[in-house]
Amino acid sequence: MTKSVQPNEMPPYRGRFAPSPSGPLHFGSLIAAVGSYLQAKSNQGKWLVRIEDIDPPREVPGASDLILKTLTSYGLHWDEPIIYQSQRSDAYEAALNQLDLDQRLYHCICTRKMIQSAGGIYQGSCREKERRDNRNSEDESALRFINSTPTLSFIDQLHGHCQMDKAFASEDFILKRRDGLYAYQLAVVVDDIEQGITEIVRGSDLLEPTVRQLALYAAMKASTPKYVHLPVAATKPNFKLSKQNGAPGLDLSNPIPTLYRAFQFLNLPVNPALLDASTEELLNWGVAHWHIQYLPKQREILFTT
Ligand code: GLU
Repeated sequence: MTKSVQPNEMPPYRGRFAPSPSGPLHFGSLIAAVGSYLQAKSNQGKWLVRIEDIDPPREVPGASDLILKTLTSYGLHWDEPIIYQSQRSDAYEAALNQLDLDQRLYHCICTRKMIQSAGGIYQGSCREKERRDNRNSEDESALRFINSTPTLSFIDQLHGHCQMDKAFASEDFILKRRDGLYAYQLAVVVDDIEQGITEIVRGSDLLEPTVRQLALYAAMKASTPKYVHLPVAATKPNFKLSKQNGAPGLDLSNPIPTLYRAFQFLNLPVNPALLDASTEELLNWGVAHWHIQYLPKQREILFTT
């Protein structure tokens, strides 16, 4: 007897929120947390939290714990143990070794100043030099990705076809910095692959780097996730609410009004009666009413705190 053909089964949904601990959770980062949570839960999926602490000079002591405490007081409970990128050096080194074996890396000794004065986009002079001569010195050098088959565009579930600037998308970007720190592009891709993330929901300030990340997925022969880039909260045009521009940390003692405003921001059809709900009730209501079709197709929304 022949087996009946089953429709292609989709892998179970796995989403994530990946804050950098450069300060407390503020309204802008809450949007990414809530959006990724509602999208995961309305797809009967898992929602993971990963702390992206790979850049110690930009980190604030105690911020990771405070972010996690804030998520908990907002009822945003993660489904699997937290991953800390500061503990993932072995995985990043293994990925770099494989890329090196595949001849997709080179050492670059150019300084930021040199690149800026040559127009800001790296033209690959050290790649040519390594091809001609030998390996550049490993000291004081960054590791760059040979972006020989760049990704220039992708489909975002909210914004549709996103075409990126060719020069930006094709640059041989850095995977390990001169100071020995791993670059965000490397760490985020290695971890999203390892955690089996099927869809990435994050702020649209990360639309551009997505093409670089997709080029890395291809080089690592990994299947790619889907993407939803949410509008970011901006205090004025092109000025997103961020830790760097002093966005206030969220109030842990009274989450409902802020959660309600986050729902409003995401265009959920809220009504004031929800202000009397518990965080759990409000989030359950959000899961039941969430749909990415409701989201404004905008990269940013002006917002006053
Ligand atoms: N860690 C990044 C941030 O806090 C987000 C990375 C991502 O979602 O890919 O901006």
